[in-house]
Amino acid sequence: EDEAKAAWEADRQHLLHPWTNFASFKERGSFLVSGARGVHVYDTTGRQYLDGMAGLWCVNLGYGREDIVEAIADQARRMPYFTPFVDVGSLPAADLAKEIARIAPGDLNHVFFTCGGSTANDSAVRLIHFYHALRGKKDKRRLLVQMDSYHGSTYLTHSMSGRHTARSPLLNFETEMVQTLRSPNTYRRPEGMDEAGFLDLLISEMEERILSLGADTIAAFFAEPLMGAGGVIVPPRGYHARVQGLCRKYDILYVSDEVVTGFGRLGHFFASAEHFGLEPDIIISAKGITSGYQPLGAVIYSDRMQAVLNAAPEEAWFTNGFTYSGHPVVCAAALATIRAMEAEDICGHVRENGPKFETALKSLLDIDIVGDVRGSHFMMCVEAVADQKTKELFAPKADVGHRIADHAHELGLIARSIGNLIVLSPPLIFTEDHIAETAATLREAITRTRADLKA
Ligand code: PLP
Repeated sequence: EDEAKAAWEADRQHLLHPWTNFASFKERGSFLVSGARGVHVYDTTGRQYLDGMAGLWCVNLGYGREDIVEAIADQARRMPYFTPFVDVGSLPAADLAKEIARIAPGDLNHVFFTCGGSTANDSAVRLIHFYHALRGKKDKRRLLVQMDSYHGSTYLTHSMSGRHTARSPLLNFETEMVQTLRSPNTYRRPEGMDEAGFLDLLISEMEERILSLGADTIAAFFAEPLMGAGGVIVPPRGYHARVQGLCRKYDILYVSDEVVTGFGRLGHFFASAEHFGLEPDIIISAKGITSGYQPLGAVIYSDRMQAVLNAAPEEAWFTNGFTYSGHPVVCAAALATIRAMEAEDICGHVRENGPKFETALKSLLDIDIVGDVRGSHFMMCVEAVADQKTKELFAPKADVGHRIADHAHELGLIARSIGNLIVLSPPLIFTEDHIAETAATLREAITRTRADLKA
């Protein structure tokens, strides 16, 4: 008890957490987790919670996997680290690159490793600029991104993350370089417009932007197949294919940020090809690639791009790299994750149970403060509204998302609130019982919140 209190106090006094709201942190401090097993985490009193978020969209295989832990320990004993710079390397990084080429779609047969999703997106931009320069297209620098997207937290990737670009323009050069397109949020499309009309609007706006800026200044389009942190935003049907058509027409690279959607969350190793019928030039991966057991990001790119890199003149250097690119212990964790996913047919389990999760959560639509339940498989979101018909929001001070998440927490379920949204992204080993428990707990949490707000 004393130890737990001391840890809580130490956290409050000394630790700056990612994404801190200082007023709220000062008042509440942090919820410290001291153990985890399977789909559950335990607080410092030993109380059990069902983890509806898989940590932060990442512990896809659940906690306490001895095979992954053993792979990590074994590699750390053999050789914990060696430099990854060119001319040297390690066996796990080479093996993992080959495995990723095997499971990635199309001709995505090459990979650059980083320390997480942000550094992977950041590195992708550097690779893309390098690639276009080698092709003699050095003006192709601009990046098309979507409002509501999330691509990371480095200086550049933060400014590539839709809402943040608009809210906090960072450097002028970046806001010029980063061009934000309308969010493809089908639920919040303009009033009176049907889904097909909304799709036409998105595509025509994108084409107009390309033409007004000049296609010869645009390097790449970045998008999550299904947006995660922006609120599990589902684009209109056919969106990705038409965007890809525009990218091809104007020689713009299509980057699919699969940091969340990859590694089984939508029932495939990568959602781009198998779920959405896309052929991206680059896929970004992180999170589930090691089931969250180690920090790893990957830029997975095409033979077509590699052909250009292979033809680089002698003086050309790709000067992007990290001490921990392809860290052997991290790569060992990823190799163990891929092995386990295939041996246990995790993707098949998600394809079978994901639709049940969707159906269970959609049943919440009979509560009058639930406006939308959307997403796919084990990546879902519940949007709370003050009025189901008009989609009007509660006032920000009602803090509806936090209230629902807090009630869920009291009831033993970890869910994440983002504004008026509740996001769910559980470990992929969720069973029908876990699905039913999540839906029932959330129903109770939303009902309690409704009572608070209507009181
Ligand atoms: N891209 C997407 C789609 C993400 O959801 C995230 C993190 O949530 C990132 C990139 C950044 O990854 P990381 O936090 O590992 O740097």
